[in-house]
Amino acid sequence: MPPGSRILGLDLGGTNIKAVLVDEHGDVLAKQSYTTEAQQGPQHVITRMSKLCEAICQTNGVNVASLVGIGIGSPGPLDIRRGIIIKSANLPGWENIPLRDEIQRRVGRPAVLLNDATAATYGEDWVGAGQRAEHLVLLTLGTGVGGGIVCNGEIVQGYYGNAGELGHMIIVPDGRHCRCGQQGCLESYAASSYLVPLAEEAARSGRGEILATLFRQNGRLEMEDITRAAGAGDRVALALWDEACRAIAIAIVNLQHAFNPKIVLLGGGISAAGEILLQPVRQHFEKRTWRMMNDQPEIRLASLGNDAGAVGAAGWFLHLHERGVV
Ligand SMILES: [Zn+2]
Repeated sequence: MPPGSRILGLDLGGTNIKAVLVDEHGDVLAKQSYTTEAQQGPQHVITRMSKLCEAICQTNGVNVASLVGIGIGSPGPLDIRRGIIIKSANLPGWENIPLRDEIQRRVGRPAVLLNDATAATYGEDWVGAGQRAEHLVLLTLGTGVGGGIVCNGEIVQGYYGNAGELGHMIIVPDGRHCRCGQQGCLESYAASSYLVPLAEEAARSGRGEILATLFRQNGRLEMEDITRAAGAGDRVALALWDEACRAIAIAIVNLQHAFNPKIVLLGGGISAAGEILLQPVRQHFEKRTWRMMNDQPEIRLASLGNDAGAVGAAGWFLHLHERGVV
């Protein structure tokens, strides 16, 4: 690839579409985003995506025709071979939409489509906290729990393209009911959409002194209230948080045995807790991991934040381009 080449990364979300322009080293040269306006349907959103591609190029003096190509990270389920979004919970009306080909046609450059969490994982491995470990697992801890796997420098997509649904690994047999229909999923122990209602329920009944006070003041609780209250010694918050960290650690033990990664990264909104998250996760992991040799992964925080998906999608396009796949 000639020096000065640019690759465009897109991250399609229910609220925003993000675009980045990166060079061949993964340095982000520009970022721009549009609101998705998802309620107006797929054709409208695809038009916005292609306009965003043109806008970010124009603003930064890049000729669209000179782009090496476009990587698109998108929520799934996807048909990655055909570049199709099969369905999406956050994008009403998206059923069997050939997003890859539509973007290729409208922008006039080759494109690849991949799952957004997988894209974020590749981004973290490429230029984030993964530091090109090439054997990496990312857990994104937010309102839900997602993730992705990089193995031998390749993303693991699975036959159907849906590998990396790490939030729905069963951690507690017959445990909490998860919205996916299973019981005991990691997500139901470690996602804010489960932890916050549990904390509010406790606070409402007067349990958890600090939580109850915060709840009385604000009429609701947020994830940060739980971490803060746990840090300040609130018993209910501590119990919930410790259970979350334990569930994450158990997931990491399982992932260690499945993939033997060099690095496991924790990302997503909850990872903003930093050491309050890392320390107990590491402790629970140490207690449970089985060791025959010193092959435990390093557990770290992810570093690319909200850019990970778009950067990783661009990086994955480049990866395939360098191998002559696109
Ligand atoms: Zn589940």
